[in-house]
Amino acid sequence: MPEIKKINKRKRIGLVAHDHKKPDLIDWAVFNKTVLAKHELFATGTTGHLMEEALDRPVKKLLSGPLGGDQQIGAMIAAGELDMLIFFWDPMQAQPHDSDVKALLRIGVAWNIPMACDRATADFIITSHFMHEEYEAIIPDYSDYLHRSIEDGHA
Ligand code: PGA
Repeated sequence: MPEIKKINKRKRIGLVAHDHKKPDLIDWAVFNKTVLAKHELFATGTTGHLMEEALDRPVKKLLSGPLGGDQQIGAMIAAGELDMLIFFWDPMQAQPHDSDVKALLRIGVAWNIPMACDRATADFIITSHFMHEEYEAIIPDYSDYLHRSIEDGHA
């Protein structure tokens, strides 16, 4: 039987947007303000400031993305402290923190959390009935990996 994690009705949502995508994320959040009001919001620094202003509500702000914020969000996902991620990354602009972006996308999949990287997917997630209910998420089984044998090649 797979291990299950119960996700509360009140979701802990991570919000991150690259600079050219920030207006799009803000616009999406304002449009969905009523639904988002029922959930707890976390964001990388600059995205978080803009969200607070636009939504007129508190958002838990982490460091700015390139300064460690992406990694903080990733660490929260790995620790089971974030239930979903709305991450509008920019496909048309090279990012100085490309390695952090990649790491965040990887950790979201590694821990099976709902993750929207564009507005259409974010729309599907926010309108899902799971947003208003408890949800049982399967925790991927990494026991084989964790219990793998490590050969000592340097006898
Ligand atoms: P920011 O970070 O919200 O602090 O601009 C976003 C990012 O990860 O690039």
